Amino acid sequence: MHVSSDVHSHTKQTNGHAHERAHEERAWHAVSVDAICAELGTRREGLSSDEAAEHLARFGENKLPETKPDSILRIFLRQFESPLIYLLALAAVVIYIIEDDWIDSAIIAFVLLFNAVVGTIQAGRAQNTLLALRRFTQTNATVVRNGAESIIPDTQVVPGDIIILQEGEKVPADARVISIHNLRVDEAALTGESQPVSKHADIIEEEHLANAERKNMLFKGTHVVGGNAVAVVVGTGLDTLIGRISEEITEIDTEIPLQKNIRYLTRIIIAIVLVVATLIFLLGFFVLGHDLHAILALSVAVVVSAIPEGLPIVMTLLLATGVWRMSKQNVLVKRLQAVEALGEAKVIAVDKTGTVTKNELVVQHAYADGTLFGITGVGYDPSGTFCLAKREVDRGAHAPLMKLAQLAVYTSDAQLTEAEGDWNVSGDPTEAALLIFAKKAGYDRRALLADAPRIAEIPFDTKLKYHASLHRTKEGNELAVAGASEILLEKSTTIFEHGEIAPLTDERRAELTTMFEQLSQEGLRVIALVYKQHDGDEITPDDVRDMTVAGFVAMRDALRPEVHDAMASARMAGVRVVMITGDHQETARAIAHQAGIYQDGDRVLTGVELDAMDDDALASALEKVSVFARVTPEHKLRIVQGYRLRGEIVAMTGDGVNDALSLVAADLGVSMGKNGTEVAKEASDLVLLDDNFGSIVAAIEEGRNIYKNIKKVILYLFSTSFGEVIFIIAALMLGYPLPILAAQLIWLNLVTDGFLTVALTMEPKEKSLLREKFVRPSKFIVTGWMTQRMLLMSGTMAIATLILFGMYYDDDLTKAMTIGLTTMAAFQWFKAWNCRAEYQSAFTMGLFTNKYLFWATCLVFVLHVIAVNTPFMQAILRIEALTLGEWLLCISVATSTIVVDELRKYFHRRKDRREHAQASASA
Ligand code: ADP
Ligand code: MG
Repeated sequence: MHVSSDVHSHTKQTNGHAHERAHEERAWHAVSVDAICAELGTRREGLSSDEAAEHLARFGENKLPETKPDSILRIFLRQFESPLIYLLALAAVVIYIIEDDWIDSAIIAFVLLFNAVVGTIQAGRAQNTLLALRRFTQTNATVVRNGAESIIPDTQVVPGDIIILQEGEKVPADARVISIHNLRVDEAALTGESQPVSKHADIIEEEHLANAERKNMLFKGTHVVGGNAVAVVVGTGLDTLIGRISEEITEIDTEIPLQKNIRYLTRIIIAIVLVVATLIFLLGFFVLGHDLHAILALSVAVVVSAIPEGLPIVMTLLLATGVWRMSKQNVLVKRLQAVEALGEAKVIAVDKTGTVTKNELVVQHAYADGTLFGITGVGYDPSGTFCLAKREVDRGAHAPLMKLAQLAVYTSDAQLTEAEGDWNVSGDPTEAALLIFAKKAGYDRRALLADAPRIAEIPFDTKLKYHASLHRTKEGNELAVAGASEILLEKSTTIFEHGEIAPLTDERRAELTTMFEQLSQEGLRVIALVYKQHDGDEITPDDVRDMTVAGFVAMRDALRPEVHDAMASARMAGVRVVMITGDHQETARAIAHQAGIYQDGDRVLTGVELDAMDDDALASALEKVSVFARVTPEHKLRIVQGYRLRGEIVAMTGDGVNDALSLVAADLGVSMGKNGTEVAKEASDLVLLDDNFGSIVAAIEEGRNIYKNIKKVILYLFSTSFGEVIFIIAALMLGYPLPILAAQLIWLNLVTDGFLTVALTMEPKEKSLLREKFVRPSKFIVTGWMTQRMLLMSGTMAIATLILFGMYYDDDLTKAMTIGLTTMAAFQWFKAWNCRAEYQSAFTMGLFTNKYLFWATCLVFVLHVIAVNTPFMQAILRIEALTLGEWLLCISVATSTIVVDELRKYFHRRKDRREHAQASASA
């Protein structure tokens, strides 16, 4: 049971806390370079070695929180940190003291070791997947020290260092730009946006700015794609943007439900064992007057029998086979424990774009010059025409339409290539759609950009929700912006229509809003294209105002074909699917409706509404919400936390780097194998190799199967333990000698049960797994009916064995013990077949439907024959050979468990049928 070991606990061991923080999230972008230098005790000529050494001592190494891998030894030792283990170890010690020989205690010690080795192997594997964010860094950096450039490991960079960055280099620490030449930085590692960002050296007055907008700052973990720069380091290690993110990640606690359940169960076992052992001791010593030695031996036997020694190993195997089966469903399980959480998932929160839809956008309508045009054509093929009421129109007659297409070229960075009649695009799908739209309007990008080269850009950002591009044209610089309609309308004051630029009156604004909302309601992504003349060669988000509207384009993103099936099975399984998108609420609602995610009466929650809610309000609103629209990745974390507050196990999909936090926080972080970034994959528990969220549902089915199997295994193992305990206690009450020894108990619990439970877990999946409503297992996994069954099976076993033992012990105690052990073993063989189903008769299930069980039964039978007949095993188990008659006696007595369980099943089925008949009669 210690197998679901504390994989998470060691992620919290961060170091570096001991060192001083240069600052807490300071707005360095708003401070002048000279002021920064003064504050950090440096100058533009760089630090001296002595100063650098002093800073290094003060601020620590430039490293991210080390989730330092635990050594194998530590992992191994951790396997012993379980109360059950203490108890077994204590039993071994007591046995060693009271017994003459060491065999029994040595066997227990062996079991402890064996469990620990298996546990170590598993935990070691799990750990490897947890060393996520660390791989970001680990390179060299160029710094100015003692007035000269020198190359040092990036771990040695300190606040106050002057760094020099060249194309292709990684930014070693957070730094403020001093001087710059054409610098372009890929900040995908932080923002998820693949477009490079340009930077500048000027001070930015506004203090509270999104990180993406701190254009005079460079961030650790990002890299330079072009140009070069000199900058002063302001933060290293944990004290960087990426450091703060990774710190947050390591601080979020996500314990897998079953792990908790198993821990509760362990506590219960311990409590029961201790109480029973104490009672036996008191009863035997004070009431029945046994001597101390005998009663100690008995108490220890109870402890050994009650602990299901085989459980940890079976759990490992169960999870491992689950993982293997899921990989066949295109689901890669990165953390074993995720498998368990899957079975319990109540909510799946999926990204719209790319998961529900194909993320292949095609412009279907354009609105310009007061007219809505239809656009024909298929997919990425740029041949298509513009129509009005089904008749082709003369594009040239509408100047604003041509302007719209021109802006589409300016704001698109996608690439369109043709290979043997097949058109391929690369880049952002939204921008690909813009480019193809422009092509249909007759624009050639190369020609256009030759006349009007781009001189600055604000790449698309999920927060800003637009993409701006500055071009040098013959008439001066022109700023073109494409983005979310309501946001860009807000920033516009004029509109280009009927050959002139006219003021955007409230009335006209309202008409445009109605227009794009109507298009949105059809599930189209509506992008506004706006522009203006702009003086200067730089642009910031502040420049996007007083724009002129050219019009809208409305693009369709087709649903993925598998979505309907996936939704159907999710609904059947009682799992709720909610959709998350940065798109407009109406677009989102329409698409969710088509996909079957949104039903009438559901609520669509926007990012703005979400921001206005506190956690409790959010948690109660979530009840009705099936679509989250206009949200950014940062909102996803709150959504996850909202569901967790409701106590619902939530699976969350994500692909960008800024999804990492929510992926870690979700009970189940799910990333996309094809389109996901490495960081998202690292942060997730599951990777969908085919990006198809239907695979999550398939994985849920596997997860539930594992739960079923775990219940079967627990039922089986506990009924063995129970039977042994009852047997021992009853023998004591009847005045019999101690009927079973520790070594024999371990033989039953580990060897016989071990093989049979492993085989039980290979039971084919029940077909109804998804159909029946999944009842979340109780806190202790064990349910009422399980206890009943357990008592029934263990009661039969204890009574039957006791009778046989009673017949023999007077003449020959060793023989009696051998008979007792063999009878119990035979009981286990048959019980395994009982446990295959809850209500279905074992005789109708087929002998070979689970061939593992068949062969495992044969194997443990042969093992038992060997044990009883070889001198070596006889010596270890303290048993002797049996006659054929005695063998037959033991085995035939054990068949009673089949009779009893078949009767139980029969009555249950009859009751079920009656209730069914009554229900249909009354209906
Ligand atoms: P999603 O989560 O569905 O991918 P995004 O956050 O990417 O949504 O997009 C949000 C909004 O930003 C879109 O509805 C669209 O209006 C706008 N948008 C998305 N991509 C681009 C782009 N490349 N250029 C301009 N605007 C875009
Ligand atoms: Mg997107």
